[in-house]
Amino acid sequence: MRIFNDNGMMILPSSFMPELRESNKALVMKACYCPRGHNLVNDKVMFGEFEGILMRVRKGMHEGLLAVSPVYGDKSRISLGMRLDKGDVLILVCPECGVPMPIYDQCTCGGDIRALFTRPVPDFDNCVGICNRVGCHTAELRNGDKLLTYANLES
Ligand SMILES: [Zn+2]
Ligand SMILES: [Zn+2]
Repeated sequence: MRIFNDNGMMILPSSFMPELRESNKALVMKACYCPRGHNLVNDKVMFGEFEGILMRVRKGMHEGLLAVSPVYGDKSRISLGMRLDKGDVLILVCPECGVPMPIYDQCTCGGDIRALFTRPVPDFDNCVGICNRVGCHTAELRNGDKLLTYANLES
């Protein structure tokens, strides 16, 4: 697989893209922020035609990068510089300032749901929550008083 194109960007397999074009329910994060307001959506990592959410991750003594698809409901994730094993619990930090993403909730899997804010100010009413345990695909999107889940996005 060719990962880097001529601009140093990452091109990822995007098997989800054909369905996505058919669907009007797809939500794509155009921006999401660390608690200090750094935008984590980065054009260095592309999921199909969309810029991915790039974070630094730590596990014990190891540190690497984790890119998450900005398409809500798409479970594509890719790690660089670190091997991720199912069940690993990661510390997600801002690649810009190193601040850890705050805990939003406890996940049913035993991991933490960490908040990425959809506005440049930390506001738990406007955030995406993603589980920090590898292999768990729990993600929640909170917008004002509405909690969007995969389930209600489908219906
Ligand atoms: Zn930051
Ligand atoms: Zn979980």
